[in-house]
Amino acid sequence: MVYVTDFRCFRCGRIHKPHEIERLPIPRCECGGPLDAEYDYRAIQKVILRDDFMRAKPTHWKYWAFMPVKDLSRIITMGEGGTPLLENKRLGENGRLLIKYEAANPTGSFKDRGSSLEITKALEFRKHRVALASTGNMGASVAAYAAYAGLECRVFIPDIAGKEKITQIKAYGSETVAVEGDYSVAIRQVEEYVISNSDSFLTGDYPWRSEGTKTVGFEIADQLYWHVPDYVVVPVGNGTLIWSIYEAFRELALVGITDRMPRIIGVQVEACAPVVHAWENKLDEIIPVRDPKTVATAIACGDPIDGLAALRAIRDSDGFALRVSDGEALAARDKLARNGIFVEPSGAVAYAGVMKKGLSGTVVVLATGHGLKDMVGLG
Ligand SMILES: *Cc1c(COP(=O)(O)O)cnc(C)c1O
Repeated sequence: MVYVTDFRCFRCGRIHKPHEIERLPIPRCECGGPLDAEYDYRAIQKVILRDDFMRAKPTHWKYWAFMPVKDLSRIITMGEGGTPLLENKRLGENGRLLIKYEAANPTGSFKDRGSSLEITKALEFRKHRVALASTGNMGASVAAYAAYAGLECRVFIPDIAGKEKITQIKAYGSETVAVEGDYSVAIRQVEEYVISNSDSFLTGDYPWRSEGTKTVGFEIADQLYWHVPDYVVVPVGNGTLIWSIYEAFRELALVGITDRMPRIIGVQVEACAPVVHAWENKLDEIIPVRDPKTVATAIACGDPIDGLAALRAIRDSDGFALRVSDGEALAARDKLARNGIFVEPSGAVAYAGVMKKGLSGTVVVLATGHGLKDMVGLG
């Protein structure tokens, strides 16, 4: 059973059939734009609008109908998703503040949702190896799922990646390539690599990953008994997470399970805020930042792959974008930790945005990566 019908180019609108996309070493439109999956939403309605679905415990693969998978008996899963939506009264000021604690995933970040789908696809395409560029968390996640599935993994790592994260990647048996340069340079290198090594499957912020990442959004609505929160506050690196959350809420409204969109708020750090800059200046392009330096290494994406998609998620949902300093991110990290919720600096950036802005109503904040991954400034 597979309900995906087309992949539409985000930039030029061109429609591609799934088999056309599956042949490409780099799943992207001819014009260079990112691709977005579209589904047969009427068929999905039959699966979704049922009591057993509505009441089943939220887990990543509960939402399989919204993912482009051919054979459900062959999915690679390590129990990703189903993460808690924590409500700690001491963290909110006006209204209801809920923390989506993505650190509870198998490798400590939300990246496991996308990896589960990507590695499932790599096996479906009979690949033997996966390759990617990563500042750490995606590398660790793909390395784990590849190892679990018996695939080789090669990770191109830019110089900003933290030591603990590189150790985690190596622990799973991955090969690592140290890249001289920032994340954008690492992306160029891995894309060249998969073009000349056709047995390697490219993972990263391409369509499979964003389709898998949508389940964060589905779970948030599900955990609120299918009510839509007023705000969802998200850290923005490549922009894939914020775009996937937007897509999830859009699809839930399309199938008629919810009736509105939350306002989606994107938060970046001062040293790397190309999406915030575009939002503030009403631009329709993202101006890259070269070689960004910040404690929030997981969002140090100077030339974000899904930057325009992030911008659209913010604009179309009537949200906004804001930046916080490294100091504010660390203060937010410390406050969360003192209330029992431990995240790495990038994982505290969204909460830092809420501390700065003070939102009312029901606010869901993404806490994206585990505190044990990067303990800068502690102890
Ligand atoms: C990847 C990551 C992000 C940013 O997600 P994007 O999809 O790149 O925008 C934020 N926080 C953590 C901990 C991450 O690992």
